[in-house]
Amino acid sequence: MIARIGLLVLIALSAATANGQPPSTIAVGLEDFQTAQHIRCQAVNGSYAWTVVKNGSLQTAGALEGIHRIAKTNRGFTVSTQEGNLEARYLILQPTQGVATLRLISEPMGYRQYTGAVHFYWHAGDWHVALETDLEDYVAGVLVSEIGKGHAEALYTAHAIVSRTYALNTFGRHRLEGYDVCDQVHCQAFDGVLTVNDTIRRGCRASRHLVLTDRLGLPIPAAFHSNCGGMTRSSDAVWQEASPHLEPVHDAACAGGTHARWERQIQRAAWEDWQLVHAADPTNTATAREAFNLPSDRFEVMQDGETTTLTGWGFGHGVGFCQEGAMKRAQNGASPWELLTTYYQRIRLTALERVTVPRARAASGK
Ligand SMILES: [Zn+2]
Ligand SMILES: [Zn+2]
Repeated sequence: MIARIGLLVLIALSAATANGQPPSTIAVGLEDFQTAQHIRCQAVNGSYAWTVVKNGSLQTAGALEGIHRIAKTNRGFTVSTQEGNLEARYLILQPTQGVATLRLISEPMGYRQYTGAVHFYWHAGDWHVALETDLEDYVAGVLVSEIGKGHAEALYTAHAIVSRTYALNTFGRHRLEGYDVCDQVHCQAFDGVLTVNDTIRRGCRASRHLVLTDRLGLPIPAAFHSNCGGMTRSSDAVWQEASPHLEPVHDAACAGGTHARWERQIQRAAWEDWQLVHAADPTNTATAREAFNLPSDRFEVMQDGETTTLTGWGFGHGVGFCQEGAMKRAQNGASPWELLTTYYQRIRLTALERVTVPRARAASGK
């Protein structure tokens, strides 16, 4: 019974896509915390209470006072509180009223801060930690992790639209684990809201609830990457899946970016071994990127004795929004809409409440 109620909570946590309604909250898997043996929890703003599943229903099980330590048990979690030990397969730290901020502390990540509720649960043979937070807080946190601080406000406004759209387009891809998106680069990097500053907040607010869609109101696959190396690539060329919104464009703006050029030296024997296996594969530069952990799959090869030198350009897959190109353009005065239409084609800005959220797609990476 306990497990069943736990699962019901889980389903509620990531059910927003089931009926096609656009969500105002999002469930984010905090995957780094899932591998930690124990996590310490502390309220930073507002107050929190523990909720457990008992006798088939959700029950409040005491306030979070000071720092509580939550540890893994055989198939669940245990918390030491003032009232004694709390043990369950499914525990929730729930704000007691309004908006509240929670600090999670664990080795080796140090501490991170999140707004909203945090669910700790044993599901499908594994431990999970998932945050249930406001979509706009999630987007603000993603901007810090994806592009950092110190850029023009127009960049944050544009990237907030990109990140919001990307989240909605991939919404529910982790539904089997109980959340909508993960906090890793597989979805979008998200390390909480601790370092979100006023410029980032203003950028998010300026584009609040705006999403890039096609004519039918479906969010576009708003791919983005660090640096395209001078020309973006089509979705078709990289993922063998054509998109009318992701076509190649020339981009001179990212030439001075941190990741515009790169060079790697590898042993000639290792390179030749790899070539032997992959020479007939038309996507072999992509497999070379993976095999040698290269910044991009665009490079030239030079042999010099026992050393093979790969000289490459760009960082990431090169499809869609080029972050370093957009940074430069925003610095030179481009508007958010100019940034978006530089890198995406056939797009519309649609208010969140008019967006149709697609059912979860298979995870395809980015
Ligand atoms: Zn993911
Ligand atoms: Zn570029």
